[in-house]
Amino acid sequence: MNRILLILLLTALTIPGVFAQITDPKATEVWSPEPRVVTPGIGSQPASDAIVLFDGTHWKEWVSSKDNKEVSWALAEGACTVKPGAGDIITRRSFGDIQLHIEFSTPVVASGEGQNRGNSGIFLQNLYEVQVLDSYQNRTYSNGQAAGIYKQAIPLVNACRKPGEWQAYDILYTAPRFNQDSLLVAPARVTVLQNGIVVQLNTEIKGPTEYIGLPQYKAHGKAPIRLQDHNCLVRYRNIWVREL
Ligand code: MG
Repeated sequence: MNRILLILLLTALTIPGVFAQITDPKATEVWSPEPRVVTPGIGSQPASDAIVLFDGTHWKEWVSSKDNKEVSWALAEGACTVKPGAGDIITRRSFGDIQLHIEFSTPVVASGEGQNRGNSGIFLQNLYEVQVLDSYQNRTYSNGQAAGIYKQAIPLVNACRKPGEWQAYDILYTAPRFNQDSLLVAPARVTVLQNGIVVQLNTEIKGPTEYIGLPQYKAHGKAPIRLQDHNCLVRYRNIWVREL
């Protein structure tokens, strides 16, 4: 213990009422509020309070981001496949802080190099991309590989499974805060687990994802989740979200 702390502690102990008054262990028990009960799902299945965004059978929760009309990505075997050229898709609902579970699989036949191999992406609040890419033995710029916050944050490790295998992202996202003058008060933050491995830990998001140039925040409220069509046959399944 350093000297200043020791002096402070000794001083405090000699002043009646500073540390001395709490003797009952119950005095520091907090009983209210009580956390509500949530029943966990089995494995990666949704918790009882989750909103199921995609169960592989319909597009009720999604629209095309091009024209807000029906999604034309293919549905098969409890999953969907990006339809190259059809464009991105977005949720009908808007979200702020969330826990998001999403499973994806990059094409079995790994064609293309770098950014053209199994590229898609999950845009939180329609703006901030968690990269989806086949980064299994496929080098690209580090802040553009799978589980990167695209062009902003390199994943801590490469936790990619082989092409064609199902992988999961579990994303904990805190939306940015803006004040009444639309100024940024707190940036967005994100933690990502890829296949159970931490790849982003409380990472600060610097602003909306940009392909060219530096990000810059603009005030916004709740917004949809967007999945990217990057002309690769990436598949998705089992997507659910919990609002925090
Ligand atoms: Mg992408």
